[in-house]
Amino acid sequence: MPGTGSRIAVRHAASAAEYIPPRASLSRLRAAATRCRGCDLWTCGRTVFGEGPRTAQVMLVGEQPGDQEERAGHPFVGPSGRVLDAALAAAGIDRDTVYVTNAVKHFKYERGEKSARRIHKKPRDSEMRACRPWLLAEIRLTKPRVIVALGATAARSLLGPQFRVTKHRGKPVASEWAAAVVATVHPSAVLRAPPAERARAERAFFADIRAVATVIGNTSD
Ligand code: SF4
Repeated sequence: MPGTGSRIAVRHAASAAEYIPPRASLSRLRAAATRCRGCDLWTCGRTVFGEGPRTAQVMLVGEQPGDQEERAGHPFVGPSGRVLDAALAAAGIDRDTVYVTNAVKHFKYERGEKSARRIHKKPRDSEMRACRPWLLAEIRLTKPRVIVALGATAARSLLGPQFRVTKHRGKPVASEWAAAVVATVHPSAVLRAPPAERARAERAFFADIRAVATVIGNTSD
């Protein structure tokens, strides 16, 4: 039995890279990700890997799964997912044709002071970097024409720490990952907007997703 002052070492790797099997299919990647110990977040619950067809032209990348996503084991199925679904539908993009994932595959949270509710906590840069090999593996396999970075964490992971969503949102930029990367806010930002600002925030988000439809030549007009 460990005595006072003794430590039990819980091992984790410096990144997810060593957990990624070579030449893996998406389903093998997904299975391997359930065993990832690339950062401390593996203790926070289940891995929520990306979902969608391997031939998807559009990949949507969020920050991390939320409470409902972690419980369900699927990305973007909670309130933010409903905002995203509405924006995709308004742009004429069928959600079943897009690949949806997150920059960080575990839900980072803290407990509320007065309840057991799990409250979202922003991942650290080191956690984002640790998880990035999974995202790059997904990109390498699906080869999307357009990647949509939903929020600052996804944009930083794909376009570097200098990139500012506030300055460049909705504008396609060329990158090594896809012919175009379009950055916008995370759909949770629409939900968090004050009531007087909510409609404007939603219109701006929908417009950014319409820009994605334009890039792939799929407009709802
Ligand atoms: S957050 Fe990413 S790197 Fe960290 S344990 Fe989960 S899957 Fe691995």
